Amino acid sequence: MKIAIQPIGKIHTPYQEKFAIPRQPGLVKSATGVIYFEKEFNDPNYLRGLESFSHLWLLFHFHQTAAQGFKPLVRPPRLGGNQKQGVFATRSTFRPNGIGMSVVEFASIDNHNKQLSLTVKGVDLLDGTPILDIKPYLPYADNLFDAKSNIAQVAPSLMEVEFSAEVQGQISKLESHYQNLKTLIQEVLAQDPRPAYHKATEPDKTYGMSLFDLNINWQVVNQKNIVVSVQKK
Ligand code: SAM
Repeated sequence: MKIAIQPIGKIHTPYQEKFAIPRQPGLVKSATGVIYFEKEFNDPNYLRGLESFSHLWLLFHFHQTAAQGFKPLVRPPRLGGNQKQGVFATRSTFRPNGIGMSVVEFASIDNHNKQLSLTVKGVDLLDGTPILDIKPYLPYADNLFDAKSNIAQVAPSLMEVEFSAEVQGQISKLESHYQNLKTLIQEVLAQDPRPAYHKATEPDKTYGMSLFDLNINWQVVNQKNIVVSVQKK
């Protein structure tokens, strides 16, 4: 049996590449996503009542990795990238049907020039990700205080992030166009996006990531992330 699925819209986010996207939603609270609805779903009736929920579930397609297929075993980063675990025991992007799920914070519903959009916060999705469904988060059913995970009970620890004086100046100029840019960079880098195998072997490396159309470079000095440049591509 095959099931055909039609995306209801696409989300636009600051994340232009997989590298440096947080591993789960809510870790980078200032990462805002805007969902633009496809023609058939571009109707406010579909969203009526949504504003009475503080958080929403997004179901989406891991469109960038879907073509690479999947295997029964994957190496979750939380196990250091060396141990294998069954794909259904992980939140890997490489999975049958390529479906992702993220809880995000509701921000607003807008309707400009007859294009409906839904803004959410705390996303862990690549720019352009197809959205398959939206559902309200139900605290009584979805918030389980007794839930346990041996490998991911708490969020990963955070790194300190510093900005050189020159970078502070670069960011101040950019912030009129990119709201809360400094907070976004700080929250993303606090997650330590480096692959696990880099952490020990490349102490002097300059790392780079893209947010919006900006290149952001940083170095790791004494376990701190020092942002060394923020520039337009
Ligand atoms: N919260 C979701 C879940 O549990 O299903 C996603 C978890 S997955 C581990 C998060 C990672 O998915 C991000 O760090 C990013 O690298 C990747 N990702 C996000 N959007 C994607 C997309 N559209 N296609 C492929 N990978 C994506």
